[in-house]
Amino acid sequence: MIVVMKVGSPEPEIARICEDLAGWGLNPEKIVGKHKVVIGLVGETAALDPLQIQEISPWIEEVLRVEKPYKRASREYRHGEPSDVVVQTPNGPVHFGEQQPISVVAGPCSVENESMIIETAKRVKAAGAQFLRGGAFKPRTSPYAFQGHGESALALLQAAKDATGLGIITELMDAADLDALAEVADVIQIGARNMQNFSLLKRVGAQGKPILLKRGMAATIEDWLMAAEYILAAGNPNVILCERGIRTFDSKYTRNTLDLSCIPVLRALTHLPIMIDPSHGTGRWEYVPAMARAAIAAGADSLMIEVHPNPAKALSDGPQSLTPERFDLLMQELAVFGQATGRWLPQVEMAVV
Ligand code: PEP
Ligand code: MN
Repeated sequence: MIVVMKVGSPEPEIARICEDLAGWGLNPEKIVGKHKVVIGLVGETAALDPLQIQEISPWIEEVLRVEKPYKRASREYRHGEPSDVVVQTPNGPVHFGEQQPISVVAGPCSVENESMIIETAKRVKAAGAQFLRGGAFKPRTSPYAFQGHGESALALLQAAKDATGLGIITELMDAADLDALAEVADVIQIGARNMQNFSLLKRVGAQGKPILLKRGMAATIEDWLMAAEYILAAGNPNVILCERGIRTFDSKYTRNTLDLSCIPVLRALTHLPIMIDPSHGTGRWEYVPAMARAAIAAGADSLMIEVHPNPAKALSDGPQSLTPERFDLLMQELAVFGQATGRWLPQVEMAVV
């Protein structure tokens, strides 16, 4: 249920209403939008009469029920206003959201050694990316495949951050690694395989770093939003959704099927920012540029692109990784698309001229 306040509602009145609602055994959550304040109510609201709540104050414009199973993740919960997930990086704040410029996250699948991660960081920064993404802990299908260097790779990510000022995104697989990982990561990635690891979702919901939540490879959009709901319900409002391809009947020519139709669908259903990962989505570097362009055209808020200095020698996901040169070219191309949609960062334009 949400309580929509009239424009210009006095702050003490909003506080009084929240107190009143708390007295009814509810847990009111004040959400300050650009134009209006709304008060979110989740929990045992089924028996409540919206008209009775409306009576609390003449400053209440309307009281609406959120009919969907996900409440905090629903578009209605913010009364249609998109979230702006702001991440502080050494180079300054980066925004993820529908009304923000497109942000670009790039880097190798896994952090392999110091020189490769620093070189990659410098190259993707020069091309205009705002974040370096690299795995220290890798979820691999085979237990015999490279599993990532673990904690020692976190120090290498820190070195790359110190060298470039880029924000860092890296995946958390085990809650035991959270504290060490959160010291370096500006955004914590929860991978496709852990999208429904509910205890992990609760854990990252109870800490302060923003979460990049990848879509499970067989997850419906509703499963995905319910997973986001776990993080939001645990108290962390900063969730970015990342589509990375789903399993379909055809996997001969692409690794996954990149579901770009999720962009308009999510836009209608949720206020959360949307990132597209065409690297895992296709599994082939040759197909990444077309899908990145399409993602921008369809209204994505952010892109994640795998980049490796020598893809042929990569310890994981080489076939889908762009070389830094190819990434450079792609960013020049994307700038044209981004400018056409009015969503390209000025510093990215500068980096490519
Ligand atoms: C990754 O981002 O490198 C990764 C393992 O992604 P996903 O969880 O989407 O498979
Ligand atoms: Mn990968």
